[in-house]
Amino acid sequence: MNQEPAATPTPGRPSLPLLDLTVVEAFDLHPGLRRVVFTCADGLPGYKPGNDLVFLLPLPDGTEGRRHYTIRGADAAKGTLWVDFVMHADTPGPRFARTARAGDRVQARGPRGRTFLRDTGFHLMIGDETALPAILHMIEALPQGAAVRAIVEVPDAGWEQPVPAGTDAEIRWVHRNGPARPSSLLGGALAASGLTLGQGTAYLLAETGTVRALRHRLQDEGATKDQLVCEGYWRPGREGGHDHI
Ligand SMILES: Cc1cc2nc3c(=O)[nH]c(=O)nc-3n(C[C@H](O)[C@H](O)[C@H](O)COP(=O)(O)OP(=O)(O)OC[C@H]3O[C@@H](n4cnc5c(N)ncnc54)[C@H](O)[C@@H]3O)c2cc1C
Repeated sequence: MNQEPAATPTPGRPSLPLLDLTVVEAFDLHPGLRRVVFTCADGLPGYKPGNDLVFLLPLPDGTEGRRHYTIRGADAAKGTLWVDFVMHADTPGPRFARTARAGDRVQARGPRGRTFLRDTGFHLMIGDETALPAILHMIEALPQGAAVRAIVEVPDAGWEQPVPAGTDAEIRWVHRNGPARPSSLLGGALAASGLTLGQGTAYLLAETGTVRALRHRLQDEGATKDQLVCEGYWRPGREGGHDHI
């Protein structure tokens, strides 16, 4: 059986490449979303839009914690890639982004992940603000005319981002108007949208319980497992990691 490379060194499993990243700049896209731009010592790694890196970030006890962050974009000419951090609390990920200065170094493993575009006639992308980097980058990678609909839950209207130019994507924004938590908001928005998956592919990327409920909804409507790309991007009480659903 082929095994997915491991972010943590694991006996019997290949390790993901270790990248030495250097911060070029960091700036707010919004008070709650901070972009950090990096160069990579051995050149830009190959990746598929939607893939993530597992950052090795300092923890308060002096050890290192792993945190997954999506590659939001890359510029081959400049040799840079960038990541958008949701600044939800004073936790290792946001702390790194808030204090990042040009010249700072950090390591990450990857690129990795099951989030990438499938060969399909219709893409249905549903997620919260942690999935916005993956959803926007995947939309950018689709050819004009591709059938893509996205439903994205964000804290409020200030978080909305323009639909990437050169695509026919439609993004339906759902304003949470409150703290992030497992919720039925995305499920309600999907039901209200009247969208059906048909033979397409759904990418369900959000809090774990929310993704599980969305997956059940689509399966109840007839979607098969291979039409669903599901990943729990965060979960109350979980530190780092990811949930395959
Ligand atoms: C494949 C993948 C790609 C991802 N891409 C991105 C990305 O591009 N940008 C991004 O910002 N996040 C992304 N995430 C989510 C991110 O990895 C998690 O939110 C992670 O827990 C953040 O680490 P932390 O140090 O802030 O908090 P942690 O120390 O991991 O968690 C502490 C506590 O904070 C809470 N928490 C964690 N995340 C959130 C949140 N977003 N909102 C509210 N409460 C939260 C939980 O209760 C958790 O127990 C991705 C996750 C995966 C699996």
